[in-house]
Amino acid sequence: MSRFLSSQLANLEPYVPGEQPQERKYIKLNTNEYPYPPSPKVRDILDTKEIDDLRLYPDPQTRGLVTAMSEYYGLREEQILLGNGSDEILAFFFMAFCDQKRKIGFPDISYGFYPVYASLFGIDALKIPLREDFSINAEDYFNLDRNIVIANPNAPTGLYLELEDIERIAQTNPDHVVLIDEAYIDFGGASALTLLPKYENLLVCGTFSKSRALAGARIGFAFGSPDLIEDLNKIKFSFNPYNINRLSLLAGVASIEDNHYFESHLAKIIETREETSRALRELDFYVTDSKTNFLFAKHEKMAGEDLYLKLKDQGILVRHFNQERISDYLRITIGTPEEMDEFLETMTAIIRGDLT
Ligand SMILES: *Cc1c(COP(=O)(O)O)cnc(C)c1O
Repeated sequence: MSRFLSSQLANLEPYVPGEQPQERKYIKLNTNEYPYPPSPKVRDILDTKEIDDLRLYPDPQTRGLVTAMSEYYGLREEQILLGNGSDEILAFFFMAFCDQKRKIGFPDISYGFYPVYASLFGIDALKIPLREDFSINAEDYFNLDRNIVIANPNAPTGLYLELEDIERIAQTNPDHVVLIDEAYIDFGGASALTLLPKYENLLVCGTFSKSRALAGARIGFAFGSPDLIEDLNKIKFSFNPYNINRLSLLAGVASIEDNHYFESHLAKIIETREETSRALRELDFYVTDSKTNFLFAKHEKMAGEDLYLKLKDQGILVRHFNQERISDYLRITIGTPEEMDEFLETMTAIIRGDLT
């Protein structure tokens, strides 16, 4: 730390992303990336003209992609804001709606960025414990008198909260903003976007990083009432007006336009998830009922960290969180069927003690 760092940031603990090793080729099941490339239509955006146009700023209104999304999701364009990943949307949400008086609440086990942003922006955060089985008790959020952010399905537990529960949470907190982070919604479950006409305090955010194979393009989005979106735009235009680059805007449109590719590949991932989950249970793992592109699992006898290290040794990366309540668990991203076969083969050998 230099002696120039703002004293407010002295105790800030930054978000720790999953490993992105450059030196060795791993089977990478640790950061919930897509195992298949994006739609071939995304590849077609890279022609000479587009490269030449990189000299120009991108459209600060992000129009092409907003238009495509408004048609796809059946929303008005004024209800959509794009972010440089949904992480940026989350940051805009904290900047726009939270302060000393308007505090924040979220589950104790959830996406690691929520406490980081709360700390970065100096917002008091209430961490509401999940039940013993990691499910969210919706009643804990009724009349909370705080803004709320909930990942649905939740990460890293993979569990989905029914829309009736989301609705009651929005309904009982009419004077606060309720943000539903739907990074994984395409892998199972229904989007809260259908509730938007009824609740002016509801915001939904999502991303092209998980289900659209575009983590490297950094495209996130928020859906809400035109008023909420206008507030978020106020932040965006005070912070980073050109937040989506030219190539990502085009890649996003190409992805939305190729719905067949999107749906057929999602179906493959879901099938692989269910097969992998069954196989892990046969190896005496407890596996949560994931509605995402990852599994959250712990073994009867072997510690999470042990398994993580042994897998890594064999060239397979999964995510282990050294965190209370979940340190026995592994978060395993769903890869291709071939990758999951290799993962399961290695895991079987580890459990049997064939590898030391
Ligand atoms: C991955 C993830 C995000 C962030 O995704 P971006 O790549 O920034 O769009 C947000 N929320 C949850 C719960 C996630 O798992």
